[in-house]
Amino acid sequence: MEQSLPPGLYIVATPIGNLGDMTSRAADTLCRVDYILAEDKRVTAKLLAHIGAKAPMMTYHDHSDERLRERILSDLATKAVALVSDAGTPLISDPGYKLVRAARQAGLSINTLPGPSAAIAALTLAGLPTDRFLFLGFLPAKAKARADAIAEIASFRASLVLYESGPRLGDTLSALAGGLGDRDAAVIREITKLHEECGSGTLSELASRYADAPPRGEIVIIVGPPPRPAPATSDDLDAALDEALGRLSPSRAAAEVAERIRLPRKHVYARAMERAG
Ligand code: SAM
Repeated sequence: MEQSLPPGLYIVATPIGNLGDMTSRAADTLCRVDYILAEDKRVTAKLLAHIGAKAPMMTYHDHSDERLRERILSDLATKAVALVSDAGTPLISDPGYKLVRAARQAGLSINTLPGPSAAIAALTLAGLPTDRFLFLGFLPAKAKARADAIAEIASFRASLVLYESGPRLGDTLSALAGGLGDRDAAVIREITKLHEECGSGTLSELASRYADAPPRGEIVIIVGPPPRPAPATSDDLDAALDEALGRLSPSRAAAEVAERIRLPRKHVYARAMERAG
């Protein structure tokens, strides 16, 4: 009999394809908890069989009813309870947030066991900047809501990470190209599985590649950040100043132009005085 764990919630990341990616701490924890909250018991049963864990399972989703959550919360005071999703890290486009929030509010013990997540794995494969990224999860399915969601983040200077399914991939890539411009991107499929694949190109190239041939399997899209605007030339500066000086004092014209074309205000003011004189 395994030694039991201190009571509390154990958030356990599981493999996204290759079972060898299960950490030994995750396997040990799933063997020792009192029970496991799973999204789909049939999926998790396969993982438990692989590691020899025998803990009972209960289905949990964030839309599970409030009484179930209350019951789990009262258990957490005396029992060790694991939360897993079908694959990857719980709470990342997966259930768990409401349970963690309630457990936090109740002052219960919460432990996380980090491990695979398709978003992070895809970023490591794409060959696009990783210093700043924005995780968008799944975009809305309806065209208008999807276009609005894309417009909301269009000027954000970061790589974008999106989850998508094969049948919707072509439409989503076209919508991204329309809303963001033809940025560099990558479509990464079946990470850590037999048919892992990373296709790179611009958004419109990828959209036409996948338009009539929706790929199978699980997919992450990574979109590179917007290109940096070319620095303003001295002709750009003079044209902007001449226009602004027709409306404003040299000082105000310099302030407006410096802000717009991102040049030091002192330099722009000196040039404004020359143009005004
Ligand atoms: N919580 C999970 C995680 O941490 O990766 C994500 C769950 S979300 C419901 C499922 C989506 O993740 C899939 O539709 C796909 O977009 C992405 N995904 C999961 N496994 C993947 C894999 N092996 N390769 C590519 N994408 C994957």
